Amino acid sequence: MTEKTDVLIVGGGPTGLTLAVELARRGIDHRIVERAPEPALGSKGKGLQPRTLEIFDDLEVIGRVLASATVYPPLRVRIGPVPVYQGRMHKPATATDAVPYPMVMMHPQWRTEAVLRERLAELGGKVEHDAELTGFEQDARGVTARLGTGATLRAGYLVAADGGKSTVRKALGIGFTGQTREEERMVLGDVRVEGLGRDHIHVWVRPGKGMVVLYPMAGTDAFQLLAPIKAGVRPDLTLPGYQQLFAERSMLRGVRITELLWSSLYRVNIRLADRYRAGRVFLAGDAVHAHSPAGGQGLNTGVQDAYNLGWKLARVLGGAPQSLLDTYEEERRPLAARMLGLSTYLHDKKTYKRDEETYQLQLSYRGGSLAQGGGDRVPDGPLLLADGSRARMFDLLRGPHFTLLSPDPAPRVPNGPQVRAHAPAEPYGGARHTLIRPDGYVGISTDSSDELAGYLAMV
Ligand SMILES: Cc1cc2nc3c(=O)[nH]c(=O)nc-3n(C[C@H](O)[C@H](O)[C@H](O)COP(=O)(O)OP(=O)(O)OC[C@H]3O[C@@H](n4cnc5c(N)ncnc54)[C@H](O)[C@@H]3O)c2cc1C
Repeated sequence: MTEKTDVLIVGGGPTGLTLAVELARRGIDHRIVERAPEPALGSKGKGLQPRTLEIFDDLEVIGRVLASATVYPPLRVRIGPVPVYQGRMHKPATATDAVPYPMVMMHPQWRTEAVLRERLAELGGKVEHDAELTGFEQDARGVTARLGTGATLRAGYLVAADGGKSTVRKALGIGFTGQTREEERMVLGDVRVEGLGRDHIHVWVRPGKGMVVLYPMAGTDAFQLLAPIKAGVRPDLTLPGYQQLFAERSMLRGVRITELLWSSLYRVNIRLADRYRAGRVFLAGDAVHAHSPAGGQGLNTGVQDAYNLGWKLARVLGGAPQSLLDTYEEERRPLAARMLGLSTYLHDKKTYKRDEETYQLQLSYRGGSLAQGGGDRVPDGPLLLADGSRARMFDLLRGPHFTLLSPDPAPRVPNGPQVRAHAPAEPYGGARHTLIRPDGYVGISTDSSDELAGYLAMV
């Protein structure tokens, strides 16, 4: 028997999970299938950028994330026992009205995924494990997907959040243009270490042998170990292999890796998918962009792909014009291209310094077809409303709705679950209507009620 759903999400990583939460909180019927038998281990994408933290605020998981996340501790570089450099990757910053989460936070990827799974469960959803997508066909009305479980699913849309090796992207014949740097590989693992403080990111450089980095992983007793591997060398990914690599590069006595919790060999790929969509199939996250981990952009960009696509899929399933879905690739692909340039630059420069460019707060959809006098992220901040009450912008935005700031006490829009209207006095006062998209970017800013109505009909 063929089962039915509106949206089939393939892949239960951070991108697929964010999309599932976005759909679940809008009551959209969906399934999320994951081929692995159980949730992934691995601290992998551990840096949560300020913009992602704002999204997690909107998804109502920020408290859980901040409960175990920490700012990155200072970096200490040594040659053997001799310190040669100490500094911070990120400039310390305190929260402001406009930017409540100013710092990159460290939070292991497995825990970020666990938090999103928990949120999904609260909203009535769940990841189906041991459920690999093995094939699919699409026609004008939907997608028929086959799972390794033997089930056949008929979905209105399929979203491939199936990672860098995306079988969906390959099946569609979508090019993944760029380069693989075979010679630039790194051992990446989660380890327990005896005899080492957790108050620094430890870097050891041994001329001729290479570098090894240990990040004390926030909220755990583990460290993430990262060590570049020379071309032609086959690293030993067992515990003794890690112990030998660490001893050789750190030249330390008395500090020992005691346990290997998770291990991988990471090869630097710098690639961007030629298209993000083929008919009723969309691609998101690592399935469309691969790059160096430098700058910690990968997981964050995947979360933001899903945050962009989720509300658009929901609107179209609710009757909005199909053309709204074209804006997903239009908005997200240029940002991914820019992010690839940035992470490659940081990778090649071998710099640990990070700044506003990597925080993703300045990313904008300005100039796109959904940005009419808008396109920028809406900052948080206090508001005075026309009725004399006070509010915070992010409190007004939190949830799946559009937010309309309008001087008109009865604007010609439905003030219901889709659009919440407020009459502001300060700021955003005056004669303009400002419509904020569900993902927190200004959609339209206009003093014409007709233009506002036209925009709302489009979305
Ligand atoms: C080894 C490794 C180390 C990394 N280190 C860092 C780092 O240090 N810093 C950083 O910022 N980023 C790092 N990343 C990148 C970061 O982890 C990714 O950007 C992030 O995981 C992307 O999330 P995603 O959900 O798009 O894809 P993924 O996390 O790859 O999730 C895709 C999921 O789809 C599932 N899947 C695949 N095919 C199918 C199928 N046919 N059917 C069902 N399920 C399927 C997979 O099992 C997987 O769970 C690393 C990635 C890897 C692989």
